[in-house]
Amino acid sequence: MAQQKFQQARFKAALTRHWQYLGLSSAQEMTPQQWWQALSSALAEQLAAHPLAKSAKRQRHVNYISMEFLIGRLTGNNLLNLGWYQEVQALLAEQQISLSELLEEEVDPALGNGGLGRLAACYLDSMATVGQSATGYGLNYQYGLFRQSFDDGQQHEAPDDWQRNHYPWFRHNAALDVDVPIGGKVSRDDSGQPQWLPEVVIRGEAWDLPVVGYRNGVTQPLRLWQASHRQPFNLTLFNDGKFLQAEQQGIDADKLTKVLYPNDNHQEGKRLRLMQQYFQCACSVADIVRRHLQAGRPLAALAQYEVIQLNDTHPTIAIPEMLRLLIDDHQLSWDDAWAITSKLFAYTNHTLMPEALERWDEKLVRSLLPRHLQIIKEINRCFKKLVEKQWPGDDAVWAKLAVLHEGQVRMANLCVVSGFAVNGVAALHSRLVVSDLFPEYHQLWPEKFHNVTNGITPRRWLQQCNPALATLLDETLKTDWMTHLDALRGLEPLADDAAFRQRYRQIKHDNKARLASYIHQLTGISVNPDAIFDIQIKRLHEYKRQHLGLMHILHCYRQLRDNPNAEITPRVFLFGAKAAPGYYLAKNIIYAINKVAEKINHDPLVGDRLKVVFIPDYRITAAELMIPAADLSEQISTAGYEASGTGNMKLALNGALTIGTLDGANVEIAEQVGDENIFIFGHTVEEVKALKAKGYDPLKLRKKDKHLNNLLKELEKGFFSNGDKHAFDMLLHSLGKGGDPWLVLADFAAYCEAQQRVEALWRDQEAWTRTAILNTARTGMFSSDRSIRDYQQRIWRA
Ligand SMILES: *Cc1c(COP(=O)(O)O)cnc(C)c1O
Repeated sequence: MAQQKFQQARFKAALTRHWQYLGLSSAQEMTPQQWWQALSSALAEQLAAHPLAKSAKRQRHVNYISMEFLIGRLTGNNLLNLGWYQEVQALLAEQQISLSELLEEEVDPALGNGGLGRLAACYLDSMATVGQSATGYGLNYQYGLFRQSFDDGQQHEAPDDWQRNHYPWFRHNAALDVDVPIGGKVSRDDSGQPQWLPEVVIRGEAWDLPVVGYRNGVTQPLRLWQASHRQPFNLTLFNDGKFLQAEQQGIDADKLTKVLYPNDNHQEGKRLRLMQQYFQCACSVADIVRRHLQAGRPLAALAQYEVIQLNDTHPTIAIPEMLRLLIDDHQLSWDDAWAITSKLFAYTNHTLMPEALERWDEKLVRSLLPRHLQIIKEINRCFKKLVEKQWPGDDAVWAKLAVLHEGQVRMANLCVVSGFAVNGVAALHSRLVVSDLFPEYHQLWPEKFHNVTNGITPRRWLQQCNPALATLLDETLKTDWMTHLDALRGLEPLADDAAFRQRYRQIKHDNKARLASYIHQLTGISVNPDAIFDIQIKRLHEYKRQHLGLMHILHCYRQLRDNPNAEITPRVFLFGAKAAPGYYLAKNIIYAINKVAEKINHDPLVGDRLKVVFIPDYRITAAELMIPAADLSEQISTAGYEASGTGNMKLALNGALTIGTLDGANVEIAEQVGDENIFIFGHTVEEVKALKAKGYDPLKLRKKDKHLNNLLKELEKGFFSNGDKHAFDMLLHSLGKGGDPWLVLADFAAYCEAQQRVEALWRDQEAWTRTAILNTARTGMFSSDRSIRDYQQRIWRA
């Protein structure tokens, strides 16, 4: 497919209309923010007028439902994908306007927490790019993920009002608005059919963002539903009395899409959250069925034309909603409706951690979705027959496999039972999904289980964020590496070319200098671009073990104080991470890192040799600046708990060396780059299990290791917290039996040893650069284009 052509005259006319509409007398009077608005809406207008390219191939349309899309800034990325960047830059330069400065005016749309939401965004980019026809379905939150600042080292949260009502890339597609019923009860009509009499009906508005393929003329929608009151109220069903009653119960349309829940890998079980989930699913399912019927196709053929990919269990309620729609609104029999539904849904599992596996109280489900509860019970009843046949009389198996059990609806079980495919997100994780989470399901349906290793879009995560390296790749490879990332293999021989290494190293250095000046401007801290930039950026979570990184920092600092003239390798430790506001321990880790940073950064004995900076408000835009500047990528989760990771891929692709455990996609990164080009350490999944089984006792470890004991004592004495002896009490869940559940102390010695290997390689800059180049050259398989092709071949094929 051909690239869409930029229409200069139309663009200029749209810009002119913009300043005229603002009541200004020339473009020159616009503020930078107004310029950004004008630019973006002029571009959006050209896209809106461009019909969606229809795929010629007979493929199913993918409906990617996700509660989160962490898309990041759109204007620069759309310009890049459209291939219009240079032309627009030149046009603006005529008016003495700098395009790159304007792009800084955009506030990140932060409609996601972290990896899961970013994955959804990368997949939309790749589907548009490889020509997979798709619609993304999500929610249009008024407030995205909170903004983070630090107050005496403690995380402070502020609402993220990203001004969705003035976001120029949105288009309200009013023809697609949907009515969503909630609450009430189920009765039977004259013929005995169940009839849902809802308490209220909420309006779902379709707000579309364009997803632009890479220079192929494809634009397809990310459809974000926004809740509003239905105007006017249907007075026969919802007289004022009933509506007020409904409001007292918290069913208030304006609240529904007010804010993104700030939890990552943790379920809270809140009523409003379930309402959000249902609202999103009801809107999306209605949209999918409407589109199918409008194309003149029979309902029976729905699964031949459509597939619904569930990004984690958050949109699981779409399954009973589809059944409800087919049975109640389209009068299909249960069997016919089930035959369609069970071929339609595919489920991506993102975690094995029990606290993240969604369960909903049956009572809560009944109060909001009485008809859906009936349908879930029917699914459960039918499935029980199957389990009874396979494991006659085995109550323990049923207790594990039931969809509805002891008053709880288990969403993952509902997905596996009702879906045609289940996938994990990295090879190791997919193996654990089968062996640890769903072994009996696997016995029943081995063919349902797949792996699709996560990926990242090389357009945003290399071409856009690291333009100097992108140019070097263009000149060197002379191919479209950005859409054929395996072509990076062509760099391998150049790792042995000293002149190439020099250019590659210079680019990294310039990126580090750029980050250093950002850090200085933001925090007043000066960092040395010649030091190792040692970076850990990801959500703050105990399993990710930012506190293991902290222990190593304490170790380095101790070495310097024991021997002030020690020849240590200068390092800048950089962190970026938000903690869920209710996650006490995660916030404690942030505080601990900030306190340690304060001490080290102000210690004259340390000077320039160690610096610790916690960059506030980690988000896509910060990631785009930090990743190209990283030398060392910290991927140090307790083995078995990081399902895949994608930050690890972004960093390796941009030439950071990984220090990491054999967890998630680290395993595949190691396979790709080779064991000699990565720093692997620590307990493996099997060793973690064995250690826990035999009864892990961190106190014993502490007693055995004097150095470790000294580091911990310093924390406990308040050395880093102005004498406050309790500041870090909970850092490791205290250290008795059951303490340190994430095995920080168990991996500490191996981690320090791996860090020594890092320093040894760093001392040989030529060898380091060679390794970095090989990391870029060998991480082509982590393009999300490859992930999408895997989905096409393994899961979405008709
Ligand atoms: C990639 C990314 C993540 C995911 O990072 P992991 O290290 O895989 O957890 C989280 N947040 C942002 C802003 C990202 O860009």
